[in-house]
Amino acid sequence: MVHLNQHFLEIPETYLFSEIAKRVDAYKKANPEANIIRMGIGDVTRPLPEACIEAMHKAVDEMGKAETFRGYGPEQGYDFLREKIVEFDYAARGVKISKDEVFVSDGAKSDTGNIGDILALANKIAVTDPVYPVYVDTNAMAGRGGKLKENGCWDNIYYMPCMAENGFVPALPAEAVDVIYLCYPNNPTGTTLTKEQLKVWVDYATEHKALILFDAAYEAFITEKDVPHSIYEIEGAEKVAIEFRSYSKTAGFTGTRCSYTVVPKACMAYDKNGREVSLNPLWNRRQCTKFNGTPYIIQRGAEAVYSEKGMAEVKDTIAYYLENAKIIRNALSAKGYEVFGGINSPYVWMKTPSGSTSWEFFDYLLQSKNIVTTPGAGFGPSGEGYIRLTAFSTKEKTLEAMERI
Ligand SMILES: *Cc1c(COP(=O)(O)O)cnc(C)c1O
Repeated sequence: MVHLNQHFLEIPETYLFSEIAKRVDAYKKANPEANIIRMGIGDVTRPLPEACIEAMHKAVDEMGKAETFRGYGPEQGYDFLREKIVEFDYAARGVKISKDEVFVSDGAKSDTGNIGDILALANKIAVTDPVYPVYVDTNAMAGRGGKLKENGCWDNIYYMPCMAENGFVPALPAEAVDVIYLCYPNNPTGTTLTKEQLKVWVDYATEHKALILFDAAYEAFITEKDVPHSIYEIEGAEKVAIEFRSYSKTAGFTGTRCSYTVVPKACMAYDKNGREVSLNPLWNRRQCTKFNGTPYIIQRGAEAVYSEKGMAEVKDTIAYYLENAKIIRNALSAKGYEVFGGINSPYVWMKTPSGSTSWEFFDYLLQSKNIVTTPGAGFGPSGEGYIRLTAFSTKEKTLEAMERI
């Protein structure tokens, strides 16, 4: 008899986006002429940089000739891309990362989900609340969740509330935790940590022999000086942190798929005898066994992000989204709403007015303004009383939506 992974039966269906779709569909059916603007999308809309397209066209042609054809590539990624990452994303910021600490892959979602393969089941996980659901659900699938509570939280996962009251800065855990997921700039709140605030976490992890899983998918949106682009800008972080980066939000690769994970050789975990072991060879072993590399064509596209033309185009696209975020921020602030994020992030996190719940305010915006947002409660209990607006729409639609408000 085949037994299934029981944990899958315990994980609730992802209710958030299906519930949004259901409510939007119902409204559209009742009001077919409504001009609905979507400010809830978590996907980019601007096309890929021309530099990337040109590089990928060239790579396609190479694949069509016997002399330049490439089959299986290195599981860790091609040197041409790993070298660019080391030079532009790290050395340029004074961070020393070597090529063999960089693992190119097909998504930060997959990597943040898969990293648990090399970590013991017994680890106590800590996440911020609200949270990117991937961190929680993948741990629940593996059996690290414990029991699901009525509020939708797992009793074996430690949740760190991030709200206006604490400036969206998580407090250090009151009990010992082993693995800490941090995502900055944050999805969904759009807020960041300063170097000093992030250092508190690096120091905690050092002292407690814990591991930080740092998701920097929105790094390219950082505009303020004191906000670290990489956790390795903090002294000692290479011993306690793994960093995830992605070309998805940076360069529009959400459908093209390319990302990378940095596992420094100095980054340690402990075996059952308490002996220190480097995680780098473990992740290498994991990738070599379960992953056969990101396509050559795609890696050539990602490499072009670092060309002069590519960097200029990426900068323009990010500026376009950040301009939208500013439009949203300014319009909502002028209306007296309390808003957060949107400065180093494509996300604006807004407090719902006069004590209405996330879903009540979602319904109000849908029905009276024909604007679709994302209810904060869908990201965790501390997201209740907030909604998320994204800057990924067109400027025209963003302006129109804000005019309606
Ligand atoms: C969009 C996003 C990613 C990127 O995921 P990919 O799989 O690389 O497209 C990672 N983390 C967070 C928090 C995100 O919102």
